[in-house]
Amino acid sequence: TPDPTLRPAAQPEDADRALRPQMLDEFVGQHEARANLKVFIQSAKIREEAMDHTLFYGPPGLGKTTLAQIMARELGVGFRMTSGPVLAKAGDLAAILTNLEARDVLFIDEIHRLNPVVEEVLYPAMEDFELDLVIGEGPAARTVRIELQPFTLVGATTRLGLLTTPLRDRFGIPTRLQFYTEAELCQIVSRGARLLGVAAHEDGVREIAKRARGTPRIAGRLLRRVVDFALVEGDGTISQALADDALTRLGVDHLGLDGADRRYLLLLAEGYGGGPVGVETIAAALSESRDAIEEVIEPFLLQQSLVARTPRGRMLTARAWHHLGLSAPLPPSQ
Ligand code: ADP
Repeated sequence: TPDPTLRPAAQPEDADRALRPQMLDEFVGQHEARANLKVFIQSAKIREEAMDHTLFYGPPGLGKTTLAQIMARELGVGFRMTSGPVLAKAGDLAAILTNLEARDVLFIDEIHRLNPVVEEVLYPAMEDFELDLVIGEGPAARTVRIELQPFTLVGATTRLGLLTTPLRDRFGIPTRLQFYTEAELCQIVSRGARLLGVAAHEDGVREIAKRARGTPRIAGRLLRRVVDFALVEGDGTISQALADDALTRLGVDHLGLDGADRRYLLLLAEGYGGGPVGVETIAAALSESRDAIEEVIEPFLLQQSLVARTPRGRMLTARAWHHLGLSAPLPPSQ
C-alpha cells in the first residue's frame, strides 16, 4: 500500500483506512486487551495452529475491526470480512468457510445479528472445523460432512447481551473494549494529523481529543473536519482556538456531546423531570431505534455519569442537569 503521508488529499473512504494502525504496537490504548492478544498471537505462531476464536465487544468505533485486521497481519494469515446481517442463508456462510485457507482469520461484524439457521452452521465449524450441509429436499435430502481448514473466527458486537449462550461459549478469547482516555486520544489525533500532513499544536490536539466521545473513529472524523476549517479559514495549522471554533460550529459541545446526545438529555430533563423513563419511551420520543439508543447514545452518557440506569428506567444525574445549565427539580417531599 502507498505511504498515506504521500496522499494528504485521500478520498473520504480512504481516510479511515489511512488512519488505521497496521500492527499491534501502533495500536494505542486498550492495554490489557493488547497485552493478552500479544501472548495469544505469539503462542499460536509457536504452536503453528490457528489462533483461538476471539470476540470483541464494546461500543462502535473503538477498534474492533482494526484489531481483527491487526491479528491477521501479526499472525501472517489471510483476512476475510463479512457481517451478521449479510449472511442470509446457511449456504452464504458455507461458501465463505470452504474458501478459507489454513489458519485464516474470518471476521464477522455485528455477529449478534446472525440468522439462527446460519448460526447453527457456525457451531460445528468453530468447534471441530466441520460443516454439515443438507443436500436436496424432502425424502431425498441427505447430510454431507465437509472438513474445513482450521481457522480463527473473530466476532465483533456492540451488544454482548444479544449473543446466544452457545455462540458466546464458543469464543475462547472474549475481549471487552473500553472508551479511550483523553491522553490516548491525544496520541491518536496527533498521529492522524501527522499522517494527514497538517501541523497541529498540542492544545489543538487536546481540544479534539477531549471532544471525541472517548472514541477513535469520532476523533478521526473531528480531526478531518477541523483540518477543513484550518485549510480554508485558518493558516492550515490546528490551534486550540481554531479547533474549539470548528467543533462548536459542528455542534460538538465541551464534553463531546453531539445533537443526538443533547436531544436525549433534554428529553429526560424537560419531558420527564429527570426520569426515570423507560428506554422504549425514549426511543419512541426521539424517533430512534431502541438499538441505536442502547448501542450508540447511552454507553458514553453512562460512562460520563450523565445518565444512570435504574430498575425503573433512565435518570438524569446532577452532573447532567449542571451540564444542561438547568436546575434539577426538588425531590418530592416525604
Ligand atoms: P469498530 O470496528 O469497533 O467499530 P474500527 O476498528 O472500525 O472500530 O475503528 C474505527 C476507526 O478508528 C478506524 O478508522 C481506526 O483507524 C481508528 N482506530 C480505532 N482504534 C484505534 C487505535 N487504538 N488507535 C488508532 N486509531 C484507532
